[in-house]
Amino acid sequence: MKKATTIEQVREAIGKAREKLRQASQQGGSNLIGFVPTMGALHAGHFSLIDTARRECGFVVVSIFVNPTQFGPNEDYERYPRPLEQDLAGCESHGVDLVFVPTVEQMYPAGFSTTVRVSGVTEMMEGQFRPGHFDGVCTVVAKLFSIVGADVAYFGAKDYQQAVVIKRMVADLNLPIRIVVCPTIREKDGLAISSRNTYLDKHERAQAASLYGSLQLAEELIHNGQRNAKEIIRAVRRHLAEHAPLGKIDYVAVVDPESLQPIDEIKDDVVIALAVRFPSARLIDNIRVDVKS
Ligand code: AMP
Repeated sequence: MKKATTIEQVREAIGKAREKLRQASQQGGSNLIGFVPTMGALHAGHFSLIDTARRECGFVVVSIFVNPTQFGPNEDYERYPRPLEQDLAGCESHGVDLVFVPTVEQMYPAGFSTTVRVSGVTEMMEGQFRPGHFDGVCTVVAKLFSIVGADVAYFGAKDYQQAVVIKRMVADLNLPIRIVVCPTIREKDGLAISSRNTYLDKHERAQAASLYGSLQLAEELIHNGQRNAKEIIRAVRRHLAEHAPLGKIDYVAVVDPESLQPIDEIKDDVVIALAVRFPSARLIDNIRVDVKS
């Protein structure tokens, strides 16, 4: 596994990889470069993306960069975990070929002045509670796509809105990359694995499992015939109030899976998404419900 800290090193490694992949593909191997952008503190969720990339691609690149521009002024940028040595060992053991660990100065040198802003799908849910967040995400992901030049990039359904926003950006800017969205990996009790779960104290952690519990309740209601989104939102909120009293609900939304527009009457697949603020960490989760199943 190679580690690159500069853009030049990445470009050089990718150039060599392309050459090798050309030869390998003549023997029937994949000539695809797969890319998994992360902020590090790697866990089973990240590794599932990396493993998928490993299965589907001939060369796998992971970036580890805690991107300052996607954090709000009162968010956790400074205290975000950065266990780099552990992350590198994890990448190595999952067969990653190249890890890109840029500095903030590499990504945002003096004079940096460009923002990639997607409208529409960024405006609701996370966009409402984290102003500027998706500008930071889109700008850094566009840069990383341009630096790495991969064929396929892997994102987690855990950050559902982010995946929709990235797909929108790729389509709108005709970026030559395919986006694959992989399922959310959960703890045994259902809590979506997240680097931020480590902030939770034991009381918060015990209550955090009810985020998924409330989404499962919503799914059950839909499967039992409930089609009124307001009723579902009410039931989810009631469940959270009862089982996660330490958490404050930012939002519970029933939305169209592509447009992310709120749905009133459920006729087709929907995504139910929520965000809950515990004193130590803000958590998000979502579930896609197939009405016909
Ligand atoms: P992050 O390091 O939090 O920016 O996440 C990097 C990528 O991993 C994003 O595409 C996330 O959606 C994805 N990811 C994070 N947690 C999970 C999870 N529990 N299951 C699946 N993917 C995840």
